[in-house]
Amino acid sequence: MSPRKRALFNISFVGMIVGLPLLTWYFAISFVHYDAALAWPDVAFWSHIQPPSVASVGFYVLWVAFQALLAVWLPGRTVEGAPLPDGRRLDYRLNGLLALALTIGLALAVVGLGGVPAGLLFDEFGALVTTTNLVVLLGCVWLVAFGRRQANAAERRLNLLEAYTVGACRNPRIGRFDLKFFCESRPSMILWVLVDVSLAAKQLELHGSVSNAMILVCFFQILYVADYFCFEDAILTTWDIKHENFGFMLGWGCLVWIPFAYSLQPLYLVAHPEPLPWWGAGGVLLLNLLGFTIFRSSNLQKHRFSSDPMEPIWGEKPEFIQTQHGNLLLTSGWWGISRHSNYLGDWLMGLSWSLTCGFGRLLPYFYPFYFAILLIHREWRDGKHCAKKYGADWSRYTAKVRWRIIPGIY
Ligand code: NDP
Repeated sequence: MSPRKRALFNISFVGMIVGLPLLTWYFAISFVHYDAALAWPDVAFWSHIQPPSVASVGFYVLWVAFQALLAVWLPGRTVEGAPLPDGRRLDYRLNGLLALALTIGLALAVVGLGGVPAGLLFDEFGALVTTTNLVVLLGCVWLVAFGRRQANAAERRLNLLEAYTVGACRNPRIGRFDLKFFCESRPSMILWVLVDVSLAAKQLELHGSVSNAMILVCFFQILYVADYFCFEDAILTTWDIKHENFGFMLGWGCLVWIPFAYSLQPLYLVAHPEPLPWWGAGGVLLLNLLGFTIFRSSNLQKHRFSSDPMEPIWGEKPEFIQTQHGNLLLTSGWWGISRHSNYLGDWLMGLSWSLTCGFGRLLPYFYPFYFAILLIHREWRDGKHCAKKYGADWSRYTAKVRWRIIPGIY
């Protein structure tokens, strides 16, 4: 990499480390104090930043420790991950679905017994945003020192800022406990579910009922998380697990962004209990189910094809391109329609979450807007990676499957 390019990267890293926590505070303050208006962030606005509270710190420490114990102690299949560049394969314990079910059961029991109020995560939303940001910002300092010990020669050449932001090594592990795999799902995705449920409980407490919009968005998002854990082994073949180091970017994205930005629609609905008309609720439900079907079936087609290339797709023998590299590129089913139909399905689901909020405000639509940019960038990055890996075979594939994400449009 040229020194100029490296300097530009380093400037963008500083921008992320400063800007991303500010963005989560912006959302938390706007949604809780300004009714999700696009408020100008002046001094009065930022004065709403909440410091960590005893409850938020206590909760978060217990939360991460509890999820770590579940990950280590609960029974589950142990599977091998994709081969690493040095040929090794790491093993992973898959018990996320059980951890999710147990956590929900325990949370309901604790709330039912009066241990904590159901709306706790709403009451502590701002303080939790601060707490989790601080945990990640400080935890990544430790991660640099720890990860350096497990880094390869190329990773050791990263400067401190790079090691902090992108991660000092790919798979930091304490014994067999994989920090990246753990943080990707357990304290992040499961917390997202609890935040949603707590927000619905707050709506009930404030307005005496839970609106159909709140029920729908919570159902959609819990379905998304449950589906994620049902196919937990598929996480092992995602870009994040296979190719990315574990540092601030991934750590912050999982531990802060997922629970506190993906739950913005239910957060908005806490103060907006108006029901959706039946046709609106029906339309949103259909859109979500359409997105879910495309997302799930396309991911499953690729996943099953990788273990059995002869298994029929849509009732027919799959077509594929045999690459020089050895892999097969599927061109049947969703993978013959566009190169990333799975992204399209995922995005449609995100749009349906926002539509539960009606059209009164722009900010609840931040998620589909941001997600479109993320997925377009991801598709571009994946295409570059595959072009390098498969060479002429990738060109044959892209000539056959012309559309990147949306057939006929993009
Ligand atoms: P994919 O699951 O689409 O995996 C891309 C990889 O699959 C490529 O690098 C290549 O890997 C292989 N591949 C590509 N085309 C073919 C083909 N035709 N046949 C066989 N193999 C192929 O991408 P992601 O890992 O990015 O996403 C996984 C899921 O996670 C998606 O549904 C996405 O929507 C979702 N996601 C959700 C996010 C969120 O925040 N909610 C964020 C990111 C992703 P190789 O060469 O190694 O075989």
